[in-house]
Amino acid sequence: MYRPAQRASGIRPPQLLLDIEEPAGIFRRAFRRLKPRTAPPEFEVRFRAYARLKSSIRFDAATETIRADVSDLVQQAPPEVVEALATILLCKLYRKRVSTAVRDQYERWVHTPETQRGMLEIRKDRGRKRALSAAGEAYDLDTLFDQLNARHFASELHKPELGWSSRPSRRRLGYYDAAHDAIVISRILDRKAVPQLALEYVLYHEMLHVKHPVQLRETSRRVHTPEFLADERRFPGLDRAKRILQSL
Ligand SMILES: [Zn+2]
Repeated sequence: MYRPAQRASGIRPPQLLLDIEEPAGIFRRAFRRLKPRTAPPEFEVRFRAYARLKSSIRFDAATETIRADVSDLVQQAPPEVVEALATILLCKLYRKRVSTAVRDQYERWVHTPETQRGMLEIRKDRGRKRALSAAGEAYDLDTLFDQLNARHFASELHKPELGWSSRPSRRRLGYYDAAHDAIVISRILDRKAVPQLALEYVLYHEMLHVKHPVQLRETSRRVHTPEFLADERRFPGLDRAKRILQSL
């Protein structure tokens, strides 16, 4: 997935409101608040493309890891809401009562118009198989893919389904959905005002996810392996493309 201002990128991007805290870190903090006397175990938090807003948690005793699967809608939520949800899930795991304040904080976010809209959209999009459209208003992803494939992959990269997102997300500019073998690019980039270089870089980044498959959709650290990042640095105009994306 490409988000602006990634830490592992080699250049140091300016602090942006787009910077996202590692979800495992948020869960660890919630754990410390809930059980200050207990050493926190490992955390593995995965954002999943569920068709509805749901989350689950379990403790894997063999690896002493708390694993949480969280609806990817929560990725758009402010950190304090993610922390409220982390607290609710941990309370469930340890059979503790959830405070009203924490529950209210999460519920308030669930009932915001934006979240409600998102819930409606994922139900529509994911309930049945999506038909993505690669042809946008300003750019055609199909053509761009073929050009990038020829330029950087000797036209040998397998072509997944390509499409523009239904929502113009600023936070998630693109992602590769391995389950559906589809690259989805945020509609926000489908404008003439967006230089082609910036869009090409986001698409190239997602193409690298096709080339370097991962088992789990996970924190950016595990998904963006050193091999992945080495390939990414080969993109000509990388720094300029990143600067453009930061400024959008
Ligand atoms: Zn990525």
